[in-house]
Amino acid sequence: AKEAGRGNACFFDQEMDRHVRKRRELAHELRHVIARDELRLVFQPIVATATSHIIGYEALLRWQHPIHGHVPPQTFIPIAEEVGAIVPIGEWVLRRACEIASRWAEHLSIAVNVSALQFELPSLVDVVEAALRDSGLSPHRLELEVTESVMLRNRVIALATLRRLKRRGVAIVMDDFGTGYSSLSNLQAFPFDKIKIDRSFVAAMEHDEAARSIIRAIVSLGKSLALPIVAEGVETDTQHRLVLEAGCAQAQGYLFGIPTETVTIAPQLHVVGG
Ligand code: C2E
Ligand code: CA
Ligand code: CA
Ligand code: CA
Repeated sequence: AKEAGRGNACFFDQEMDRHVRKRRELAHELRHVIARDELRLVFQPIVATATSHIIGYEALLRWQHPIHGHVPPQTFIPIAEEVGAIVPIGEWVLRRACEIASRWAEHLSIAVNVSALQFELPSLVDVVEAALRDSGLSPHRLELEVTESVMLRNRVIALATLRRLKRRGVAIVMDDFGTGYSSLSNLQAFPFDKIKIDRSFVAAMEHDEAARSIIRAIVSLGKSLALPIVAEGVETDTQHRLVLEAGCAQAQGYLFGIPTETVTIAPQLHVVGG
């Protein structure tokens, strides 16, 4: 037993070592990822819950690594944040997303994820302005998604940045709501334009009365603050019906469309809708 224990510890050490080395390697490569042209954006539709009509898309980052293949954002975004590479990467995402969305039908919005780290840099406003100017995209079509962590870091700077962006007509979305540590009073202090309910609540809805209650509570909170609610991760017709009944104005999830590189449906929809 003693032998086996030592064997396990040794195996564990090797695993740790491998893990640390891979992280360090990825961190290094993330600094060159833009120059090497390994990043691309995919787009997932966001729909009006009642009609299932597409009202916009969320841009999601993909990294095609020459050796490791597809590296999930869940893996590389935290590393990019740790080493600061998220700042140039985030700028690339904003510019690219605005450029692509500027070619879509005018009623379609584009939601871009912004790291809390980017949000603390006063230069974010300049980066957003440059992306809008160079693409010609109307600021009213751009939404920036941030998680609750922005409110827990440098609140003063984050709030100032948020206000400056809003003055320019850009909407700010509270992403993954319900998963962080922020209190509801934070929602009052930070003038968000929209709340996205994390998909863990949507997933639990079908079988869990408590999850349904939480979603109803978030919706009524949103109503009192005049904030539309988006339900994330809708995968089934039942979930669609439940989030509609709960009063979520917008929805997103595999049921309506997976993230894809080309958004062919946009121009047609404009013709049909208009
Ligand atoms: P997120 O912002 O919450 O994005 C939604 C994630 O849920 C995406 O994962 C999307 O593909 C996935 N998803 C959408 N519908 C469904 C569904 O019906 N079922 C399930 N199971 N999943 C669904 P993805 O693309 O892997 O991105 C993961 C996270 O990485 C994002 O979560 C976001 O936090 C981060 N991320 C992605 N792109 C960017 C970016 O450009 N910048 C920053 N800072 N973060 C990004
Ligand atoms: Ca998001
Ligand atoms: Ca989310
Ligand atoms: Ca999420």
